[in-house]
Amino acid sequence: MKVSSRYILDRLTSAYGPVTWVPRFEPLDELIFTVLTQHTSDLNAERAYKAMRARYPHWQDVMDARPAELAETIRSGGLANQKSVRIRQILRMIKQRHGDFDLRFLAELPLAEAKAWLTDLPGVGPKTAAVTLSFALGMPAMPVDTHIFRVAKRLGLIGSKTTVEDAHPILEKLVAPADVFKFHVLLIQHGRRTCKARSPLCPVCALSERCPSRSLFYPAGNKKAREAVR
Ligand code: SF4
Repeated sequence: MKVSSRYILDRLTSAYGPVTWVPRFEPLDELIFTVLTQHTSDLNAERAYKAMRARYPHWQDVMDARPAELAETIRSGGLANQKSVRIRQILRMIKQRHGDFDLRFLAELPLAEAKAWLTDLPGVGPKTAAVTLSFALGMPAMPVDTHIFRVAKRLGLIGSKTTVEDAHPILEKLVAPADVFKFHVLLIQHGRRTCKARSPLCPVCALSERCPSRSLFYPAGNKKAREAVR
């Protein structure tokens, strides 16, 4: 039986509890924080973000910082030299295009335009743009991280050859705009807690009755088939 998005939302809400959207940052903070999370853990990125905001309370200060000094400040976030350059480039371009650092105007744009505005910034891809619009502004954008990408493939929501970039619009359209944030959060939780990369816990999975990949893992299917959904 096909796995519908309604089934996923209902079953995962029962398994992990209801999801409520609460903005954690202003949009520019969310954008820069997401850049800091690239290729590192959220914990390391958080340390780097806090150190940066403590040393440079205003975005103008970050933009004007000496590159080596900014890199030193965000060292705990990894790839500090590249990230310090990228962050200053992003800030410069935002200032040039918009005149200040307040990105709340994006919420007034149609979703596609808001995404295009962000992905025109250096090093900002569909996931970073979607995180910013969704987490900071409550817009119905669907960020696809490694957990969501894996779970979506296993559930047959996207094809085995779909790229992560293409997965963004496909998954976003599967649910009503009001449910996109919830869908994102629940699929991440599912990937982290149950549908794990190496050893998915299919026997206790809330979606196992309809999951097309369950039989590949339990009983152990052939290795090639399992690799296709990893
Ligand atoms: S049944 Fe297994 S493969 Fe399917 S979603 Fe659940 S944990 Fe993942």
